Amino acid sequence: KKLIIAIDGPAGAGKSTVAQILAHRLHYNYIDTGAMYRGIAWKTIKSDVLNDEVAIGNIAQDINIGLHYGDGKTTVFVDGRDVTAEIRTPEVSRIVSEIAQIKSVRDAMLKLQRKMAGCGGVVMDGRDIGTHVLPNADVKIFLTASIKERAERRWRELTEKGFKVNLEELEQEIMARDKNDSEREFAPLIQASDAVLIDTTTLSIQEAVEAITKLCEE
Ligand code: C5P
Repeated sequence: KKLIIAIDGPAGAGKSTVAQILAHRLHYNYIDTGAMYRGIAWKTIKSDVLNDEVAIGNIAQDINIGLHYGDGKTTVFVDGRDVTAEIRTPEVSRIVSEIAQIKSVRDAMLKLQRKMAGCGGVVMDGRDIGTHVLPNADVKIFLTASIKERAERRWRELTEKGFKVNLEELEQEIMARDKNDSEREFAPLIQASDAVLIDTTTLSIQEAVEAITKLCEE
């Protein structure tokens, strides 16, 4: 049977790394829903409509998001343009959770994400996948790690890409984003009652993948 696997959790817990390895291993598709919200945030900045909820809702309605997963990597397209690198900038990270709070944005993404999941053979990661997008998923994981560990991982990631970021600031920003995501009105970040909690603070990527693979075999 081709499973539907939902992975949720706070920023920097390793969701996308683990999900991509898992998808590669199972020959499943991988859908990064955070990248979709980032795509909308990116287009909002480009369109210069940051404080206009209606305009942002319209962007979410009309946007053409392409997620191409292959060879363990994802390429993200917005309206045909490769924005894989541009949606990871600190500028986008700072505003994305505010944009993800808008009801019309969430409604548009929910529809799209359900369609993208198709009839299985998919690993989808995000914040509300197990609770809202795919409540009937076969395997639900809530992946987390200590804030210190998550900030350090993000710092290494961004530094490797050439961004100059301050660890303290990054930690503050991640905490602010998690708070926004957990306290928002619609589909907040929360562990689904039937999700399995995996804390990766002291786990390697491989160990986390192994743990999820085992759950998939049950
Ligand atoms: O996963 P990533 O850190 O790229 O997600 C960026 C932001 O997108 C999150 O902080 C959150 O505000 C939003 N998001 C969401 N629901 C999802 C995935 C991401 O609200 N399913």
